[in-house]
Amino acid sequence: MSLHEAARRRSIAVISHPDAGKSTLTEALALHTRAITSAGAVHGKGDRAGVVSDWMEMEQKRGISITSAALQLAYGDVVINLLDTPGHADFSEDTYRVLTAVDAAVMLLDAAKGLEPQTLKLFEVCRRRGVPVITLINKWDRPGLEALELCDELSERIDLQPTPLTWPVGEAGRLLGLVDVGSGAVHTYERAPGGAGLAREERLPAAEARERFGADYEDAVDGAGLLDGVDRESFLAGRTTPLLFGAALSNIGVRQMLDAIVGLAPAPSARPDVRRAGAAAAAGRGGETSPADGPEDGDGLPTRPVDAPFSGFVFKMQAGMDPKHRDHVAFLRVCSGRFERGMTVTHERTGRPFATKYALQVFGRERETVEEAFPGDVVGLVNASTLAVGDSLYAPDGPAVRFPPMPAFAPEHFALARVKDPGQSKKFRKGIAQLQQEGVVQILVSEARGDATPILAAVGPLQFEVATFRMEHEFSAPMVLEHLDLSVARIVAENDAPTVSAALGTEIARRADGTLLALFRDIWRMRGLQRERPELELTPLVAGG
Ligand code: GDP
Repeated sequence: MSLHEAARRRSIAVISHPDAGKSTLTEALALHTRAITSAGAVHGKGDRAGVVSDWMEMEQKRGISITSAALQLAYGDVVINLLDTPGHADFSEDTYRVLTAVDAAVMLLDAAKGLEPQTLKLFEVCRRRGVPVITLINKWDRPGLEALELCDELSERIDLQPTPLTWPVGEAGRLLGLVDVGSGAVHTYERAPGGAGLAREERLPAAEARERFGADYEDAVDGAGLLDGVDRESFLAGRTTPLLFGAALSNIGVRQMLDAIVGLAPAPSARPDVRRAGAAAAAGRGGETSPADGPEDGDGLPTRPVDAPFSGFVFKMQAGMDPKHRDHVAFLRVCSGRFERGMTVTHERTGRPFATKYALQVFGRERETVEEAFPGDVVGLVNASTLAVGDSLYAPDGPAVRFPPMPAFAPEHFALARVKDPGQSKKFRKGIAQLQQEGVVQILVSEARGDATPILAAVGPLQFEVATFRMEHEFSAPMVLEHLDLSVARIVAENDAPTVSAALGTEIARRADGTLLALFRDIWRMRGLQRERPELELTPLVAGG
C-alpha cells in the first residue's frame, strides 16, 4: 500500500531569486491541478494571505514570507507535494531545511535576469544534497535574454547541462508558442488576461507549425537542436537539467512543467538511516548478526525503505500559527509507511511516545485535518513543543530509525542576548531554549560570558528580528540584543580553544550539540591566526546566506 502511494507522489520545492515568479507559478500550478488541501488559499501578491504565511504581525508589516509549509496538489493520478520556501535571503537556513525534505526542485529563472545570487546559493545546496533540478525560464512574454545565452549561463556558471523539453517560438517578449522538442509540435496560447484562468491552448503538428511560423519555427527547432535531449539518468545524477520555457503569469508552459515533474522527478525512495549505520559501526562489520542487516543505498549505507512501517523527520518548526493559540507545529516529512492521525509514534531522540491526535496539512493560514499520509507527504503536528528540527519519529511496532541530522549552517551574524527585566529570567531561558529547538536562530554559550547572556548566531539579520519579536510577544521576556563584531565561525578542537581565545577579535562559544566554535571578527583575522599557528585546525560549517 505505502509502496503504491509513494510511487505516485512527487515532493518538490521551487528555488528562485525573489521576484522571479515563485508565487505566480504556485498559483498557476494550483490552477492546473486539483488542490487537495486548502482550495482557494492561494492568492496573488496584492492579497498574499494564501501563498505567504503571514500570521505573524511582523511578516504582515514587512510583506515577506518567513515561514514554510506545503501545498498538496492532485494532477491525474499523481499527488504533488509543493513545499513552500521563504523568499528572503535572510531565511535561507529555513529554505535549506526544506530542501532536505524534497526529492526534486524546480529552479525558476527570470528570462531577463538569468541566474541570480539567491538562485545560485540554493542551487548549490541542491547539488550538495543530490536534489535533481528541473529548470523553468519564466516571463518569456517580456523582453529578455536569448534562449541560448541562458543555456550557456547554466552550463558555464553552474556546470549544469540544460536539456530542453520545450523551446520558445519567438524571442523573449514575442512569444508565439512553445515547441515540444520531442515531437516538433507547437503549442500556441490565447492568453487569459492577468492569468485569471487557464490560457486557451492549441496544438499544431510540426508541419502546420512550420507553415504558420516559418523562420521563427526553424530558429526554435535549430536552437533546441544544439543541445542534447532529456536523459533521466544524468538528470537524477545532477549533471543535466530538463529545461522548459513559459510565462507563469499567463499560465503558459505550466502544464508542461507539471508533466515534467510527473514524468521525470523521482518518487520518494529509501532514505539513509544513521542509527543503523551507527549501530553497525559500533558492532564492527562482519559480526554474526550485524544490526546493519537490511537494505543499503549505493554507498553501502543502511536505508529505510518506503514500505517499512511509518517513519519521518521534522524539517521545520513553526510557532504561533494560530493567533488564538500560541501553538507549535512541527512539519514532518513522511519517509516510510502510512501515517494515520491519532497514532502514537516514538520520538527517536528521547525514546518517548508522541501522540499525533492533532495532525494537519497546513498551507499559509489554512489548516485541514489530515487523516492519513504517505511517503513524500508533509504533516503538521500540533502541540509539538517537545520536538526539534531534525528529530525522527517512527511507529513503535517497527524498527527504530534516525534520519541524518539537519546540516548546521555557518552563521555570519552574532549578537549577545540579555533579558530586559531580570525578573523574567526564567521565561527568558525558556524562550531561548524554544527558539533554539525550532532553529529560529542558533544559540551559543560562551564560558566567559555565562549562559545568562547567550550569543545568538544567524545566517541573516532578520532572524534576530523574529527572535526578538517572539521573545516579547510569545514568551513575555523582552530581550536586548548587543551586536557582536564577529562574522566568521569555524569548528575548533577543545585543546585549540585557548589559542583562539588568546588572540584579538575572537571568541569561543559552544553550540547546544556540544560543538565548540571559534568566532572571528573577519576572515582576515582568522587567516592571520592560522598563519601564526599553522597547527591550528579550523573546520568550516556549511556555507549559509
Ligand atoms: P516571487 O517573489 O518569486 O514569489 O515572485 P512573484 O510571483 O510575486 O512575481 C514577481 C512579479 O513578477 C509580479 O509582479 C508578477 O506578476 C510578475 N510575474 C511573474 N510571472 C510572470 C510572467 O510570466 N510574466 C510577466 N510579465 N510577469 C510575471
